[in-house]
Amino acid sequence: MKTAQQVLHDVFGYSAFRPGQEEIIELLTAGENVLAVMPTGAGKSICYQIPAVMAAGLTIVVSPLLALMDDQVAALRTNGVDVACIHSGLSREQNVLEWQRVKSGAKLLYLSPERLMTERMLNALAALQPAMFVVDEAHCISKWGASFRPDYEQLSRLPDLFPESVIAGFTATADKATRSDIATKLFRGRGRTIVHGFDRPNLRLTVANKANWKSQLMGFLEDKTGQAGIVYCLSRKFTDEVAMYLKEQGLNAIPYHAGQSAEQRKINQDRFMSEDAVVMIATIAFGMGIDKPDIRYVCHLNLPGSMEAYYQEIGRAGRDGASAETLLLHSLGDMGLRRQFIANEGDEAHRRREHRRLDALLAYCEAAECRRVTLLAYFDEASGPCGNCDNCLSPPVVGNGTVRAQALLSTVRQTGEMFGAGHIIDVLRGVESQKVLERRHQNLATFATGKQWPKDEWMIFARQLVAAGFLGINIQKYGGLELSDRGRALLAGEGSFSYREGGKIRPERKAAKKKSDQPVESGDVSLLSQLKKLRLGLARARNVPAYVVFPDSTLIEMARARPTTLDDMSGISGIGPKKLKEFGPTFLRAITEADSQAADL
Ligand code: ADP
Ligand code: ZN
Repeated sequence: MKTAQQVLHDVFGYSAFRPGQEEIIELLTAGENVLAVMPTGAGKSICYQIPAVMAAGLTIVVSPLLALMDDQVAALRTNGVDVACIHSGLSREQNVLEWQRVKSGAKLLYLSPERLMTERMLNALAALQPAMFVVDEAHCISKWGASFRPDYEQLSRLPDLFPESVIAGFTATADKATRSDIATKLFRGRGRTIVHGFDRPNLRLTVANKANWKSQLMGFLEDKTGQAGIVYCLSRKFTDEVAMYLKEQGLNAIPYHAGQSAEQRKINQDRFMSEDAVVMIATIAFGMGIDKPDIRYVCHLNLPGSMEAYYQEIGRAGRDGASAETLLLHSLGDMGLRRQFIANEGDEAHRRREHRRLDALLAYCEAAECRRVTLLAYFDEASGPCGNCDNCLSPPVVGNGTVRAQALLSTVRQTGEMFGAGHIIDVLRGVESQKVLERRHQNLATFATGKQWPKDEWMIFARQLVAAGFLGINIQKYGGLELSDRGRALLAGEGSFSYREGGKIRPERKAAKKKSDQPVESGDVSLLSQLKKLRLGLARARNVPAYVVFPDSTLIEMARARPTTLDDMSGISGIGPKKLKEFGPTFLRAITEADSQAADL
């Protein structure tokens, strides 16, 4: 019998396990129940696919999203694994055919939860005695988590119905309470819970002040021609506006939001999955279950709602392990909007919790230390400076802003804690606006004491004060600023306030480029794009997403190594024997042709 390492290599074409994979595979093949919590992109699928390939019997995989199931099945078949799939998106005849595959020895059967839990299916499976049940997105079984699904609740009958089968659950999001709830429901606590790191070193984290989103976004996209990415926006209207703008700039931009018909959304999602140089402009309605490993960037044009949401959204980039960039633009306006959303939902305790979660994200945005350290600390994971975020690459200058903060806080208080930052800053800068004159704010002691700083610098300064908890945004008073206890204390001379000087408007990308991050040396860029074109053709002909043929990381390695024989090629990560046979010669030809063209020049 083959070892897990051999299956990894021979079937999936990978040379080494990623952190955590081997341990989970060992437990499952030894017959233990496992709940595995691993971040998106960590490579959960292989953790159960390898034990499934190695097992004598059938493995049932329960997954809530039909599209995701289809992609997984396509990917497994391209690797030569015998797999079946039954769900309501398929015709009756197709489902009958799929069941025949099961009867004739398929290794895996993908099912939606409601299909699995019919008495008919359960009886049929009982006769087959499955070796293992795998519950993907296992957090959906718990009412504690955010995405409880009633059709998942039924799955808690599995350990009683199939006491002989191994049960495994996989999820990317589950806190402690949710984890133990899942473990109880899935295997009555008789099994292991494995939690794996949240660190995604291949993601570059950058946060910047939002000044002019158009030029900031275009600057960010400048070196990303030919790559796929997502731009997240808060509202449907803004989503359409951004998509329109990017289209005018000649980009292949597609909007996606809940205001579109289900049909339109499906078309747009399919385009995103299958096309190469495509940018999806989307609200958070987009992303759940998106399994496209070659997303090279994620940009937030509006503030996400929490660290969890932010992490999940940027986590969709770089799932193939190759480097990917993220950019978050934030503003005082966005902060106010977020607070307003929270003010309109749930009960008091819920609101307090949500405000605190937003506070954590704001603190992350304003942090002067390594972004990754701050991000991971939020998820209870310690790490050292990453050398790959904006703060590591160009450390911000931190200044003492206590006196300046006192001037601002004092102006807020003297004007009755009812005005937004714009008016307060007008007073500080000595602007004799109509509002100032009407209220006679030109007579305040702080009037015109802050002339030396331009308005946008003041805005950034004010936002930092809010983020640090010295000022609050009063939702009832239309977003007016008000002093918190901390702010009152600072005004009374207790404590101090450090701030990031000059708050960067433009992320310093140029300086930030590290040589090792370049996907390929410049000469290989054209080869890489040729290989991508080739891949797209092959994927289209097979009606599968491009990465099912090869992930980006494989093409990048191919373009760098320029194999000249099939044997050379088999050494590249992501090329198993099945794919080598099916696609190898085509890619080899393309590489040889590119080389001979280069020689002719
Ligand atoms: P998850 O389900 O945890 O979000 P996936 O299972 O979809 O992640 O894996 C993400 C990507 O990583 C896939 O393209 C997968 O083929 C790849 N991958 C998984 N394990 C390895 C490995 N050991 N070496 C290289 N690539 C891997
Ligand atoms: Zn860092």
